[in-house]
Amino acid sequence: MKDPWREGPREECGVFGIAWPGQTVAPLVYLGLLALQHRGQESAGIATWSEAGLHLHKGMGLASRVFDERLSALPGSLGIGHVRYSTMGSAVLENAQPVAVPSPWGTLAVAHNGNLTNAPQLREELERRGVRFRGSSDTEVLAWCVATSSRRTPEAAIRVAMERLEGAYTVVALVDGTLFAFRDPLAIRPLVLGRIGDGWVVASETCAFDQIGAVFVRDVLPGELVGVRDGQLHGEVVLPSPRRAHCVFEFIYFARPDTNLVGRNVHRVRRAMGRVLAREHPADADLVVPVPDSGTSAALGFAEQSGLRFELALVKNRYVGRTFIEPDPQRRDLGVRVKLNPVRELVAGQRVVLVDDSIVRGTTSGKIVQVLREAGAREVHVRISSPPIRWPCFYGVDTSSRRQLVAAELDVEQIRERIGADSLGYLSQEGLVEAVGLSRAELCMACLDGQYPTDQPQEELAGRMALEVAR
Ligand code: SF4
Repeated sequence: MKDPWREGPREECGVFGIAWPGQTVAPLVYLGLLALQHRGQESAGIATWSEAGLHLHKGMGLASRVFDERLSALPGSLGIGHVRYSTMGSAVLENAQPVAVPSPWGTLAVAHNGNLTNAPQLREELERRGVRFRGSSDTEVLAWCVATSSRRTPEAAIRVAMERLEGAYTVVALVDGTLFAFRDPLAIRPLVLGRIGDGWVVASETCAFDQIGAVFVRDVLPGELVGVRDGQLHGEVVLPSPRRAHCVFEFIYFARPDTNLVGRNVHRVRRAMGRVLAREHPADADLVVPVPDSGTSAALGFAEQSGLRFELALVKNRYVGRTFIEPDPQRRDLGVRVKLNPVRELVAGQRVVLVDDSIVRGTTSGKIVQVLREAGAREVHVRISSPPIRWPCFYGVDTSSRRQLVAAELDVEQIRERIGADSLGYLSQEGLVEAVGLSRAELCMACLDGQYPTDQPQEELAGRMALEVAR
């Protein structure tokens, strides 16, 4: 799981869906959510469908906390689940997912990963038509777009809704005995399709399939709507597009290393990033140390390429909870020391290459450098396996203001000075593309190069609270 105290880009959400005739699927949805927990820890929810209708339970916090003892209240052979980090709308229960709204076909449950960049406009339209919103998430907007359609079937309603939605959306939905999954035409956020027995399963990441013994079949295609009813799968590309924009930060940071994205194993891609980084920014040093766990794969690659010794010289305490770290700046300050302890015997008197995946605000990196120096490191050379983040993300990652980004204000030398490192090197954009192994035209790299794959929304209408501002 990603560290709650960490200043890195906050991951967005994870979605999961399953349709398996004759089985009670809630326990499998739960296991899927546990595998996707790194994508969001603020709230979790499961909706299932049985002949009796829709069953829904959601709550704040980790899936293990929300579903303790509750799974037996969720019967049925179709289910969807969600773990959330709020990128649009506050972290409150009304915004937890799946969102359920009444529709002409019975209650519709929707879970979503991404950000709709035109959510404020769509919401205003829906409100004019009399919809009363309960929360402030763009997922509720999406659900009402479908539920208020005049089309005869949910398939047709989703197809029309997809034409109206802008931005990033990877969605699972449940209504009237059918599981739906659909994805924006640029395929910004990941969504994969798998098989389990004679059932079908969809998830944000393949690691969720491994967890329940499902087998990967293929990616849900860009712009595709998939429906599963009575065990039969039907897929249709509703919005064909020649362009792809897979989020490059899924490779750098968000996805689990044991996940495969667009046919590439994430750990291997990160390792390749480390090798390219070592080529681009070699360091005269004694050992390579990752910031655990986010920098581990890239640090291995750096060590391989440079021939330097790889050491786990920072030990992470996995049992320090968010409640201890988050309340005030003083505790956040303590956070680095409580979470990461250096192995003095390894670093004392040594020249250390410290590898991490990204720098957002720069405060944490500075503290880790300081921790290593206090442990006796002679030199600390920081290497980052992503290029500088200079632009906000409007597609489901919580870096929605340039003011939060140290690299938007300072150049590399100034950042080096701020974090107190002896040297600082970032992976280049070209090096990143080489390591991922996809063409630049297939990737979204907007937070690195400012080239947004969709119309760029106004900054103040794009962030976490966009719908609260709009109201
Ligand atoms: S702007 Fe950055 S974080 Fe956002 S989708 Fe694009 S690459 Fe991913």
